[in-house]
Amino acid sequence: MPDTPDLLRRTAALAIEYLESLADRSTVVDQDVARLRRELAGPLPDAGELASDVIEHLAAVGSRSAAGSAGPRYFGFVIGGAVPAAVAADWLTSAWDQNAGLYVAGPAASVVEEAAGAWLIDLLGLPSGSSFGLVTGCQMAHFTCLAAARYAVLARAGWDVTTQGLFGAPEVRVVVSEEAHSTVHTALQYLGLGRDRVLVVPTDDQGRIVVEALAETVDSVPLGAPMIVNLQAGNVNTGAVDPLRPAIELARRRANCWVHVDGAFGLWAAASPQLAPLVDGVGLADSWATDAHKWLNVPYDSGLAFVAHPEAHLAAMAPPHAAYLQYDDEKRDEVAWAPEFSRRARGFTIYAALRTLGRSGVRDMVERCCALARRMADGLRGTEGVEILNEVVLNQVLVRFSPGGEGDADAFTREVIRRVQEGGTLWLSGTTWHSMAAMRISVSNWSTTEADVDRSIRAIVEAAAAARG
Ligand SMILES: *Cc1c(COP(=O)(O)O)cnc(C)c1O
Repeated sequence: MPDTPDLLRRTAALAIEYLESLADRSTVVDQDVARLRRELAGPLPDAGELASDVIEHLAAVGSRSAAGSAGPRYFGFVIGGAVPAAVAADWLTSAWDQNAGLYVAGPAASVVEEAAGAWLIDLLGLPSGSSFGLVTGCQMAHFTCLAAARYAVLARAGWDVTTQGLFGAPEVRVVVSEEAHSTVHTALQYLGLGRDRVLVVPTDDQGRIVVEALAETVDSVPLGAPMIVNLQAGNVNTGAVDPLRPAIELARRRANCWVHVDGAFGLWAAASPQLAPLVDGVGLADSWATDAHKWLNVPYDSGLAFVAHPEAHLAAMAPPHAAYLQYDDEKRDEVAWAPEFSRRARGFTIYAALRTLGRSGVRDMVERCCALARRMADGLRGTEGVEILNEVVLNQVLVRFSPGGEGDADAFTREVIRRVQEGGTLWLSGTTWHSMAAMRISVSNWSTTEADVDRSIRAIVEAAAAARG
């Protein structure tokens, strides 16, 4: 391929151009599905096209319509950007194109994952000796952790779910709060545990599990019955964290109970001494799911599953030994720890992000996002007709707008969100919190500055004023 270097240099230039545009780019992007289909879809060409033509075309259409979620004024969902070192490592990962399932197919990939896993266990305050798997996202991290949980609680009841499946197995009681993220239910759906076959515990006004209600639910389960309790660090709307220590200690009183924590973004509070009290006791759980593609700011797809009981993790995940698999106890074969066989070497991005940020850099990034969320809340709070619905304990802010008088605050809040989205200064979306329409702001990007927040506050206040007419 004689033109390969030119193609890749040109592609790098196009990618850099896009990244450099992010700070000032409008957050309004092309969402016209008919136009995108016209430009991108159609019959498969019989003769191949020039790679440079394909890439130029993709870059033009793709950059124009890219959601801009890597940018500093994207506050939608809980997204996170990508620190430059992680983007660079992602490019190298593609160039190396290794299959990181096996040590032999990517030796450095395996060692880098080992190093990153150990750093993360330390940084997030998890028990040393925990095992980990690098997966696509938090949903698959739940799947991995809950597979280990399912294995362990059934093994204690004398049942090997790995070899025998669930047919004839003792019943597993699964406890969730009413605020459990949908991906926990999806993981239960995949695992044959039934997404609706759960015992649901109420939450308080911030979305935290009510410990007394959890105690009642746990007590309703027959003694010794296999049980899995799901807790949450970081409610997707409010950022609130379940009272982890009392909840875990309560579950611990049962002989056969596994505690799993959904810490998709909230677990990163553990990386900051200032925020760590929020997740006090988190290390007492049995498994933890989190994302690197959210608050660590590495490119998608990058989820992390941690398990305090490596033997259960292994029993649940490792494929049956096949003759050609060069398993070796001395080296890490990732196939044993994740629900994938062949896979991308996704450790390089995490490694590059952690090594360039260092412990203090991760702490600063997490604390800065939280400080900016408070700045956003404080900046909006003073305005007539604006109410902050949550205690801003982390990086999430919920805002509700009132039109004044007898006006419909739900409809008005949605109208303000629509106007903000169309304004192009920032992007965020709406949610429903305790039956009320709300604007949700998530500050999760390394590149967001105070000036970005102040500009965004002005745009939101102007949108509300314009909606009032
Ligand atoms: C984002 C999120 C998830 C799902 O994570 P993915 O990486 O999108 O699979 C789960 N739980 C919470 C609390 C989240 O914020």
